[in-house]
Amino acid sequence: MSRPIRAIIDLKALRHNLAVAKRHAGNAKVFAVVKADAYGHGLDRVLPGLTSADGFAVLEFDSAIRIRDAGIDKPVLMLEGFFGERELRRFSELSLSTVVHAASQIDMLVRVKLSAPVTVFLKINTGMNRLGFSPDEVADVCNTLAQSSNVLDIVAMTHFADADGTRGIDWQMQSLNRATSSQDLQLCAANSAALLRFPESHGAWVRPGIMLYGATPFSDTTAQQLQLRPVMTLQSQVIAVQELAAGDCVGYACAFEAVKPMRVGIVAAGYADGYPRHAPHGTRILVGANRVQTVGRVSMDMICVDLSTLPDAGVGTPVTLWGDGMPVEEVASAAGTLNYELLTRVTKRVPVTVSD
Ligand SMILES: *Cc1c(COP(=O)(O)O)cnc(C)c1O
Repeated sequence: MSRPIRAIIDLKALRHNLAVAKRHAGNAKVFAVVKADAYGHGLDRVLPGLTSADGFAVLEFDSAIRIRDAGIDKPVLMLEGFFGERELRRFSELSLSTVVHAASQIDMLVRVKLSAPVTVFLKINTGMNRLGFSPDEVADVCNTLAQSSNVLDIVAMTHFADADGTRGIDWQMQSLNRATSSQDLQLCAANSAALLRFPESHGAWVRPGIMLYGATPFSDTTAQQLQLRPVMTLQSQVIAVQELAAGDCVGYACAFEAVKPMRVGIVAAGYADGYPRHAPHGTRILVGANRVQTVGRVSMDMICVDLSTLPDAGVGTPVTLWGDGMPVEEVASAAGTLNYELLTRVTKRVPVTVSD
C-alpha cells in the first residue's frame, strides 16, 4: 500500500466532452486547447482521448514537440507565438501555426529565412487589452504579411474578455468585424464560453479548453447542465478517525473547536497535493457517496472531514475531493478561486492513473 491519494483521468469522459464541443462547433474546426499540460491532466495522457480534434493549441514549445513526437501531424497553434528567431525557425520545421501579436514578431518573421512558410494567426486586440494589434493596424499588418514568402496563410484571431459574463461578445465582435472588413480572412475567436453560448463567434476555428476537461466556463451554469463529464477525479481515503469532545480542537492554530462531541475523519490530501489551502471550514467533500463538510484548516498533507452523520465511515473509506460526484467548481468557489486553477495545480507527488 502507498499513500492513498490519486488522480484518475477518464478518457471516455474526455471523448464525450470533445464530442459535445464538436456538436456545438458545427462546421467550425476544433483546436483542442492543451496548454498548461492539458489543464493539469497531462498532455501525453489526454492525447489518446483527443484523436477526433482537428488540431491542438498550446503555448509551450516543448508541448508542441511532444505532440509532433506522438506522431500527430494535425495543425498545432502556438497561442503566444515565437519568442525569438531560432524558435520561429523550429516552428517552421515542425509545421506549427503561430500567433503573431506584436510588431517585433512581424519584424522577425519577414527577416528570417524559413525552410517552409508558416500559417499566421493574427491576434487582434478587440478589448481584452493583453495581446494583439489594434483594429486600425490590421490592414497594414496584413499587407506586410501577405508580401512575405514566409507566410503561408493568415487567420484573424481574437480572444474574448467576458464571453462567460454579462458583457458578452457583441462589442468585441463588432471591433473584430470592423478590423477585418477589408480583408478576406478566416476567423478564430471562440473559447469554451463563446463556443457554447455564441454561435455567431464560431468562424473557421474554435478554441475550447476548459469544457473538454468537463468543467464549466460559466458561474451560472454547471458542467452537468452543459452535459459535460468531469475528466479528472481527485480521490483519497480516510486514514484516521478522531472522536472529539466538546471543546476539543483540530489542527493548526486550533482553528476549529468542537461545540459538541463529533467524529472527524483525517483524509490524506493537503495543499501540497493541490487541494486549495483557502478552502474554508465547511467546504463540501464526498465521503463514500455522501456529501459532507471539511472541518478546520487545510494543512500540507491532510484535511479533516465531519463524519458525525456517517457512523459507517472509517479508515479506508474513499473520499472524492473533486471530480465524479463532486464538482470541482464547488471547491473552487468555496476557496475563492476557479476550476481552471484547481485543475492546473494538482502537484507532481499525486500519482495519476488513466481510465479508458
Ligand atoms: C486558454 C485559451 C483558450 C481556451 O479557453 P477556455 O476558457 O479554457 O475554453 C482559448 N484561446 C486562448 C488564446 C487561450 O489562451
